[in-house]
Amino acid sequence: MDIKYSEKLLSLPPYLFIELDKKKKEIQQKGIDIISLGVGDPDLPTPKHIIESMKKAIEDPKNHQYPFGRGIKEFCVAVSNWYKKRFNVELNPDTEVYSLIGSKEGIAHLPLAFINPGDYVLVPEPGYPVYQSSVIFAGGNIYYMPLRKENKFFPVLEDIPEYILKKTKLMFINYPNNPTSQVADKKFFQKVISFAKEHNIIVVHDCAYSEIYFKDNENDNTIPPISFLSLEGAKDVAVEFHSLSKTYNMTGWRIGFVCGNKEIISGLAKVKDNYDSGVFTAIQYAAITALESSQDCVEESRKIYKKRRDVLIEGLKKLGLNFFFPKATFYVWCEVPKNETSMSFAEKLIYLGVVCTPGVGMGKSAEGYVRFALTVSEERIKEAIERIKKVL
Ligand SMILES: *Cc1c(COP(=O)(O)O)cnc(C)c1O
Repeated sequence: MDIKYSEKLLSLPPYLFIELDKKKKEIQQKGIDIISLGVGDPDLPTPKHIIESMKKAIEDPKNHQYPFGRGIKEFCVAVSNWYKKRFNVELNPDTEVYSLIGSKEGIAHLPLAFINPGDYVLVPEPGYPVYQSSVIFAGGNIYYMPLRKENKFFPVLEDIPEYILKKTKLMFINYPNNPTSQVADKKFFQKVISFAKEHNIIVVHDCAYSEIYFKDNENDNTIPPISFLSLEGAKDVAVEFHSLSKTYNMTGWRIGFVCGNKEIISGLAKVKDNYDSGVFTAIQYAAITALESSQDCVEESRKIYKKRRDVLIEGLKKLGLNFFFPKATFYVWCEVPKNETSMSFAEKLIYLGVVCTPGVGMGKSAEGYVRFALTVSEERIKEAIERIKKVL
């Protein structure tokens, strides 16, 4: 049989890490020890009290059936209370909160509810790859908004041509930002709201890293990061995606949520009703425990990441490498040496057993950068620095 993939599948951008993955396997087969600063997946375990709560919930047969829909009432209320406490944002748990099988799932499905052929979606680049694939699967067109150093890794909305804006239905933004680690202030968010209202654009804010932040300067009012929904008028145009993955070291559990504009949420809900059957109820109970218990475990994680960050950036400084000082996320966005591209540098590091993410893999404006994830111990980061030294 002649099996042909769909045009949509074929039009996904090429996976740029194939060559790097091959080299990584080669190195692994040679028995060389690998320090993985590539993927953004916490190495820290899920806190015990969350696991205990899951154990209890999983024993109860009423949690074994299809969960369906928005999520249990207690989960939506827990999210709404957490938003009030953390961001001073009011959310109606019955209409403005919706559970997701990880925020990736919701992000990937959302454009299916709003995009028609010919519609444009504004996508930051570099950025989380799911934004662009979600648009491709929905049959929309992508307009990339470059995040460049000279613009402090914010998109320049004035640069987007008028003829694109006429056909733009939706935009993605993400702060604290993966991969650059930039944090947004009120002024930027306010500007996005005015822009969205003027051009009738749905705003999708990905807030996956709101709890991974470092207070270095008491006067910095962008730390802790704010919610997009905390700005006046935001709920008219926006939804915000959130996840328990990074905050509570729960990437494998698959739970997140979307909140904000209820009509936008209803659109996504209709898509989801046809694609999935909700989040395992026992996991929702574990998530309630995570959101309602003491947040000391999150402070613990922040302390660990901060120490790791400091070890890495001190090391990079000594090596003479430039990087963007990370106030949030667990990434360090680092410029490659002058004579290297992001791929050539990443490749050299792999031969020494250090894995990082080459910038070009996340967008062409990110040429000249690599991303290091702080998801290994301080000792391993020190060892990585020693190895990087050999390339320079
Ligand atoms: C990790 C990540 C997510 C998705 O997390 P889930 O595990 O699917 O909830 C979303 N956005 C960004 C930018 C991420 O880095």
